[in-house]
Amino acid sequence: MSNDCIFCRIVKGEIPSQKVYEDEYAIAFRDLNPQAPVHCLVIPKKHKPRLDSYGDVIADAEELGRVLLAANKTAKALGLEDFRAVVNCGTGAGQTVFHLHVHILGGRDFTWPPG
Ligand code: 5GP
Ligand code: ZN
Repeated sequence: MSNDCIFCRIVKGEIPSQKVYEDEYAIAFRDLNPQAPVHCLVIPKKHKPRLDSYGDVIADAEELGRVLLAANKTAKALGLEDFRAVVNCGTGAGQTVFHLHVHILGGRDFTWPPG
């Protein structure tokens, strides 16, 4: 947990959020500035700044796997059959909050490649 991380503060309940899914490892909540009719963020409860902060060890593999499983469950809870899951890793890729998060976007069509 990091005191100056907004997503850690959301996990602790210090900053309000519209939660849509929660389990032992992860929570999902609605994005403040949605980019699609449905836009949620799935985050691990433990603080890790970015996707490449995880290493090649079983504990990290499990934690990442749990986050992706939580993403599936979140999409299901939201009634999304098709959805886009996005992880921005680093400033150049558009990451602005340095606590790993998977964007779940749905409710419209998406183009490829992304902009
Ligand atoms: P990134 O740009 O790092 O991939 O995504 C960060 C996301 O977090 C953005 O889509 C932004 O709208 C969202 N966000 C930033 N601060 C908050 C907040 O305090 N609450 C919620 N619900 N979303 C936030
Ligand atoms: Zn954090």
